[in-house]
Amino acid sequence: MKPNETSSSTLSTERNGYSRNGQSPQELGDDHISTGDETPLREDAFDMDDETKMELIEKHFAQIMHILGLDLDDDSLRGTPRRVAKMYVQEIFSGLHPDNKPHATLFENQYRYNEMLVEKDITFYSNCEHHFVPIFGRAHVGYISNGKVIGLSKINRIVQYFAKRPQVQERLTVQIINELKRVLQTEDVAVVIDAKHMCVSSRGIQDDTSTTVTAKYSGKFQEEATKSEFLSHIYNTQPK
Ligand SMILES: [Zn+2]
Repeated sequence: MKPNETSSSTLSTERNGYSRNGQSPQELGDDHISTGDETPLREDAFDMDDETKMELIEKHFAQIMHILGLDLDDDSLRGTPRRVAKMYVQEIFSGLHPDNKPHATLFENQYRYNEMLVEKDITFYSNCEHHFVPIFGRAHVGYISNGKVIGLSKINRIVQYFAKRPQVQERLTVQIINELKRVLQTEDVAVVIDAKHMCVSSRGIQDDTSTTVTAKYSGKFQEEATKSEFLSHIYNTQPK
């Protein structure tokens, strides 16, 4: 599937998810609509330290397991609340904390001035913020250098940082492109994400074959020729 139009341009910046398009919170979640470009975090999100967060999540997750009727004295289950708490805070949701944001150093590189650089097939794992089950797939990034470049691994790290949050695919796309524009000091950036949503494949509609493509093109990438060159790199086809 080739994304010719950006689907993120229709994103609303409203923060209140209760009335957008007249939909209830349940309907919003099932349609995987996000309510804004920023992750909805509270002001006091990081007043609490990570260790305290893990202790509280451990306690609450044990309660969820208990309510489900699971025997937490069983050897196999005993360590699960702590494991889940550590995984949430230190791994799969570590991208919520601004301290974990990758620092990208710019390098002067006149050689690459005005040339397109494409890094494709960046594998990422994220989680749907409506169901807390995995979203996984590949991100493709392109930019045209204004004379400055960043290390290739930094592009990976930026993708992983924003993926490690409860997410909506459209927002993930926007957050990655915004950060790349800021770091690279250019508007000429493109991001395409092709991903599978476990909440679509393993539950709900149970479609195991569909993937979701989101794309955001900025600056020169909004021009047909540049966009076409970028898409030809990521899909191994000839530019139109
Ligand atoms: Zn979902």
